[in-house]
Amino acid sequence: MNNKPCRFCRTSLKYTFVDLGISPLCNSYLTEDRLSQAEIFYPLHAYVCENCFLVQLEEFVAPQEIFGDYAYFSSYSQSWLKHCKAYADMAAKRFGLNDKSLVVELASNDGYLLRYFKEKNIPILGVEPAKNVADAANAAGIPTVAEFFGVETAKSLYSQGKAADLLIGNNVLAHVPELNDFVAGMKILLKPKGTVTMEFPHLARLIEGNQFDTIYHEHFSYFSFLTVDKLFSAHGLTIYDVEQLPTHGGSLRIYARHAENNSEPIRPGVSKLKEEEITAGFLTLDRYLVFSDNVKQTKRKILQFMIHAHDQGKSVVGYGAPGKGNTLLNYCGMGTDFISYTVDRSPHKQGRFLPGSHIPILAPERINETRPDYLVILPWNLREEIMEQMAPIRDWGGQFVVFIPQVKVYS
Ligand SMILES: [Zn+2]
Repeated sequence: MNNKPCRFCRTSLKYTFVDLGISPLCNSYLTEDRLSQAEIFYPLHAYVCENCFLVQLEEFVAPQEIFGDYAYFSSYSQSWLKHCKAYADMAAKRFGLNDKSLVVELASNDGYLLRYFKEKNIPILGVEPAKNVADAANAAGIPTVAEFFGVETAKSLYSQGKAADLLIGNNVLAHVPELNDFVAGMKILLKPKGTVTMEFPHLARLIEGNQFDTIYHEHFSYFSFLTVDKLFSAHGLTIYDVEQLPTHGGSLRIYARHAENNSEPIRPGVSKLKEEEITAGFLTLDRYLVFSDNVKQTKRKILQFMIHAHDQGKSVVGYGAPGKGNTLLNYCGMGTDFISYTVDRSPHKQGRFLPGSHIPILAPERINETRPDYLVILPWNLREEIMEQMAPIRDWGGQFVVFIPQVKVYS
């Protein structure tokens, strides 16, 4: 029970989507001297709104605290960079972008996507709340303002003559605490004939794929297509096209324009996906309320596997230190008693410890030295890439393990 209002429609939140107990912020990796200090744990309890079906977390931490000085720079996988380049090529062509256009990206990070537009001589602007990250982008020649995006920032940019032909928001919508302010800001910054594209994990895939570990404090909202369509139309934006992508376990890429701009007809995929979601029950509470039991069952199966492995004297280590790994480890109560260490290619994470579980993060070379029996892939969405990279563990009979959607061993 909770009396907080829905982040979008303000209806009181009454229904639990899933309660994952308490967890520290998943990106607060610890240095060794912090291990003996107290850590703050926050409830990780997701609700579903009975009116608009937005799945959401309560906000316990100010976004400034989470994103104001982001502790690390994402280590991009090769497949993600390839995805970004393909997107830039597609967008430049589809929207006829040239040296008179402006591409604005919200939560642009260090400019890893915008640089593909820059290479095409298309003017760019990044908006990135983490000041240290924005500084790095500017130093690398990607013009970036260090601001949280919303109506105020949009008005300020617009008054400086900035308006977007293409306004991009990839994996940012989930992170936005003031959803209405954010989408209203996009309406202001978009040129009359411009397009907004956004990518975000698809709630339908999260539920079907049992991806409970993608729920963490930094992700405030989880969207079905039906709900995001309602959100955009409430702010005078019309979604006119949609694609389903394999990224992050199954994402949507939506294309939106001003409601007044009829030059882009609504493509058939839009009503098709809405119909699919309606048929699958996404306008009924029951579709959401079954999730919780599946998650509890998965926890028991993961623990059964891990206890059995250790009883047999097997050694188990992890690969990766993603946010989702932290949700899973903390929810299942696993620390170094279950996973001795994990490895990550990002030098920003190496030498640190996972929040809550205190599992040390080492360099991948460590795996060759200790020759573990099981390598648990925490970023399961990158399973194929990691299995290829780490194929040599098979030389000593090592096996890969993935926990989501269910426990599976790859010999
Ligand atoms: Zn609502």
